[in-house]
Amino acid sequence: MGSRVSQSPDLCWPKSCSDGVEDRYSWNPDLAWSVLQVKQTVKPVQPILPETPKPENHTRFVCLSDTHSKTNGLSVPQGDVLLHAGDFSNVGLPRDIEKFNAFLGSLPHPVKVVIAGNHDLTFDLDSYDETFKRFGHPRKFDCVEVKSLLTNCIYLEDEETSVLGFRIYGSPWQPVFCDWAFNLKRGEPLREKWNKIPAGVDILMTHGPPVGHGDKSKYGDTRTGCVDLLHTVQTRVKPKYHVFGHIHEGYGVTTDGFTTYINASTCTVQYQPTNAPIIFDLPNS
Ligand SMILES: [Zn+2]
Repeated sequence: MGSRVSQSPDLCWPKSCSDGVEDRYSWNPDLAWSVLQVKQTVKPVQPILPETPKPENHTRFVCLSDTHSKTNGLSVPQGDVLLHAGDFSNVGLPRDIEKFNAFLGSLPHPVKVVIAGNHDLTFDLDSYDETFKRFGHPRKFDCVEVKSLLTNCIYLEDEETSVLGFRIYGSPWQPVFCDWAFNLKRGEPLREKWNKIPAGVDILMTHGPPVGHGDKSKYGDTRTGCVDLLHTVQTRVKPKYHVFGHIHEGYGVTTDGFTTYINASTCTVQYQPTNAPIIFDLPNS
C-alpha cells in the first residue's frame, strides 16, 4: 500500500494503458495489481459515525449492500439518500423482493437508489432462463413482474439518475463468479459495460469492486476486483465516490487520493448482517 496522495488518478497507470488495459492484465487481477500497486495509493478511510452532525449545505448518503434478505432489525442511520449496491436477496424470489421493498418503504430517507447483484437472479432476464432451475426456484417467475415489485426506490441498471443535484450511475455487472446473475467475462465484455458510464458522475454504484479496493478474497491474498473497472474509474469517470459490495470480506473504505471507494457489504462472509451502514456527506452544488 502506498501513502502518496495523488490528485491525478490517471497517473497511477502505466503509459501503455492510456488507451485501455491489456487482456493479460484484465484477465488476471493479481498480476495486474502486482504491477499497479507500485504507483497506486490505497489509504484506509475512517467513515463518519452516525451521530456526527451533518455539516450545513451538505447531503448525507447512507450506503448498504449485500443485505441478502437479512433486514429484520437492521439499524440504518438517518440521511438524505440511501444507496444499496446489490444482493438485496438470496436468489431473487418474489417474496424476498417484496420484503426488501417493504424494508425500503419503512426507512425515512427521502431518496433511495438501488442496483441489483449476482444473487438477484430475477433481475437478470437473460441468465434467468438457466439460473431459475439451478438455484431451485419452484417455477420460472416473470422477471418483469418481479422487478415491478421494487417500487420504493430508483432502480438503476446501466443508467444514470440525478438526485438532489448529484449525478449517480449504477451497474450490476461483475466478473464471472459461478454463473450467477449479471456475470460477464473479464476483458472486453465488462469493458463494454464500463464504457457506458458517463464521465464526471458524482457517485458510481457497481455491485462488484474494482481491483485494489475492498476486493481481497477470503481465499488467501487474492484479488477479485475488476481491472478494467478501476481503469475506467481512475482515467475517465473520476467519481467522488464509488460504492459497491459483492466481496463481503472487503467491507470498508479506502481512497486513492481522488475517489473514495466504499465496500458497503452489510453481511459478513458468514452472511451475518453485522457490518454497519457507511455514511458520507457531499457539499450541495
Ligand atoms: Zn453478497
